[in-house]
Amino acid sequence: MQDFTALIRAVADFPTPGVMFRDVTPLLADAGAFARCIDALAEPWQGRGVQAVCGIEARGFIFGAALAQKLHAGFVPLRKPGKLPPPVVTVDYQLEYGSDRLQAQAGAIGPGERALLVDDVLATGGTLAAAAALVGKLGAELLGASVVIELPALQGRVRWQGGAPLYSLLRC
Ligand code: IMP
Repeated sequence: MQDFTALIRAVADFPTPGVMFRDVTPLLADAGAFARCIDALAEPWQGRGVQAVCGIEARGFIFGAALAQKLHAGFVPLRKPGKLPPPVVTVDYQLEYGSDRLQAQAGAIGPGERALLVDDVLATGGTLAAAAALVGKLGAELLGASVVIELPALQGRVRWQGGAPLYSLLRC
């Protein structure tokens, strides 16, 4: 497995004091590393019949779109509220302070279609759990999820339920 750690920048106190932000833009800017990252994300899903790659706004769009091409699957954006025109399907979820929502275009994935979730970072796990609920609401079959970076200290994996595989390329 390729180690991309040197291409992830850790930025202290961003976007708020006390947060250590993992910045993936150096990885995206390196053509070879970005290609190897997409290969590594795709590897466990080859031959699994993925029909739709669902990327979570915003950086999940970048990795998800490239991964969809690699897997010969369609790409479905899961977006912050108010970005997609109606009709939309919505899931609300709790943050540490307050709540947020994710939306998908109604009918973006057909009932029973095999879907894969993709994001850049798994932190507390709330976003990925909400995305899984959204895919379920659309009637699709959730095959699992892949993220580039998992932050094990935040125990996001605990919120991932249902037994589908959740893969991460890096844990830091
Ligand atoms: P969670 O819901 O706490 O797991 O947060 C995951 C979501 O927040 C993902 O959509 C990430 O893009 C974003 N996120 C959380 N922490 C970071 C970070 O350190 N770098 C980049 N994105 C992050």
